[in-house]
Amino acid sequence: MRPILEATNLTLHFGSIAAVDGVTVTVSEGELVGIIGPNGAGKTTFLNLVTGYLRPEAGRIHFLGRDITGLHPDRITALGVGRSFQVPQLFLSLPVLDNVMIALACAGRRSLDVLHPLAEPSRRDAAHRILAQFGLDRDAHRPASELPEGGRKLLDIALAYALRPRLLLMDEPTSGVSALEKFAVMDTLVQVLQEGGVTAMFVEHDMDVVRRYARRVLAMNGGRIVADGPPEQVLGAAAPQVVGG
Ligand code: ATP
Repeated sequence: MRPILEATNLTLHFGSIAAVDGVTVTVSEGELVGIIGPNGAGKTTFLNLVTGYLRPEAGRIHFLGRDITGLHPDRITALGVGRSFQVPQLFLSLPVLDNVMIALACAGRRSLDVLHPLAEPSRRDAAHRILAQFGLDRDAHRPASELPEGGRKLLDIALAYALRPRLLLMDEPTSGVSALEKFAVMDTLVQVLQEGGVTAMFVEHDMDVVRRYARRVLAMNGGRIVADGPPEQVLGAAAPQVVGG
């Protein structure tokens, strides 16, 4: 499989702290990569660098062979890099369906889609299709605030998915989700990603989730990648510096 993401020597300090310190990693199309490490290891900063929310001091980032280093986050999203957040970014008072239609309207803004009525039939149908993929269609007309935490997480990821990413970066897709819900959330998510041919990286503190779903694990500590391999190899080591808390 060809490389979809190539980060080379990525570095960013906050004052004297090396949040990301010379990170070099290549991810190929179709991979599902878990990123682990203790608090402050640099995981979120790495996602922020790839998605353009932060600019590296040094290093380059290539997406599908194109240098995207320092591009504006909107441009990077438009090129096909999606992002979901630890705290879902939703319009909580609006129905679930409207949240997806707004994302679709934003996705189409280069063709002036935002000037069309939000709920035009084709957009409404597309939003229902996405909700069905994520198992949320029966909740389409409920306010997003009424969804359980797992549903909110899935909806947040569905909004990123609506922008048709080739690479999706997720920050803790199961944080705050009950133990009962978390595997259902991940089962749905992995199925949608596979069906859509979307490559994904997810930051995760829950090692049960990482072990079960990641095909490859990157362990970070002190801004560096300290282990990179299949879960049984990286988690098998189970050193506290790798697993963290
Ligand atoms: P967590 O698991 O707690 O989310 P993380 O691995 O995602 O941690 P980062 O949030 O990337 O770690 O933080 C890496 C380091 O950079 C930490 O020492 C953190 O305090 C510092 N840091 C992150 N963002 C900023 C910021 N905006 N300003 C100053 N320091 C920051």
